[in-house]
Amino acid sequence: MKTLTGKALAAAIRERTQAEAASGPQPRLAVVVATADEASLWYVRSIAKAAAGVGIVCDVVDLGPEAAPEQITATLARLSADDHVHGVLLQTPLPAGASAQELATAIDPRKDVDGANPLSLGRLAAGLPAFPPATAAAVMALLDHYEVALEGRRAVVVGRSTVVGKPLAHLLLDRHATVTVCHSRTRDLAAVTAQGEVLVAAAGRAGLIGAAHVAPGAVVIDVGTNPTADGGLTGDVDAEAVAETAGALTPVPGGVGPVTTALLLRHTARAANLP
Ligand code: NAD
Repeated sequence: MKTLTGKALAAAIRERTQAEAASGPQPRLAVVVATADEASLWYVRSIAKAAAGVGIVCDVVDLGPEAAPEQITATLARLSADDHVHGVLLQTPLPAGASAQELATAIDPRKDVDGANPLSLGRLAAGLPAFPPATAAAVMALLDHYEVALEGRRAVVVGRSTVVGKPLAHLLLDRHATVTVCHSRTRDLAAVTAQGEVLVAAAGRAGLIGAAHVAPGAVVIDVGTNPTADGGLTGDVDAEAVAETAGALTPVPGGVGPVTTALLLRHTARAANLP
């Protein structure tokens, strides 16, 4: 089984992004945070650090875990109206009762660099230009980087969230794959996933995908990031179990994750250069 790492691809994307960021107004990304979740705050710090590395300014607007939905909406609207801000990201999780999709309607689609506004998903579904969620875009970038053919092939996506599964299904359809989307109510998951020549696991369930779920030779992309007891991360795919069957697999960590962050910055540089 081949291991499809994301690090070299992420570095290449960052290099192109740096050049793009230097070619116009300095891009500025605003990240709105309303949580005390340590993993989420760690991710925001990693975005800020990566942004600085490619010449993008990253402002973290921390509203605190008690922020009211109205306050979050007003902040997103203010940043969307600010000519100096090119990208707006709403970090999750959010305070109880707040809907990320509802709040993200306040993000200007031209600045919606993580495809969170439902308008962006609608445009994507309609085949119109829009920023896809960086994670879904990262899956496509990995498939392209490793020259995985998609046209006419069976692609199975496990997960139907608006962040990963749904936008990814549209991106795969645009590339002429035959797409099946599975979810928590799918009956006999293994029978469906074993049809996939390309299989994407984005369920957030550690080890969900085992040998019986994978077709011989399938290209498997593991989007899952599940915390382990020792403070690390593990994917949705049981890498050891599928090693004999799968043709290729992305590692966790070091697969989709680094490409996601790199593409978020790429989208920001693009947003800064929009006419
Ligand atoms: P989510 O909880 O919003 O959605 C999970 C989806 O998986 C749902 O559609 C659900 O129906 C499906 N699902 C759950 N259990 C299932 C099961 N037993 N069988 C089949 N389907 C099942 O999660 P999300 O935000 O889409 O994220 C999915 C995973 O991807 C998580 O582990 C998350 O941490 C990870 N993630 C990684 C990155 C990255 O950059 N690597 C970015 C975003 C999300």
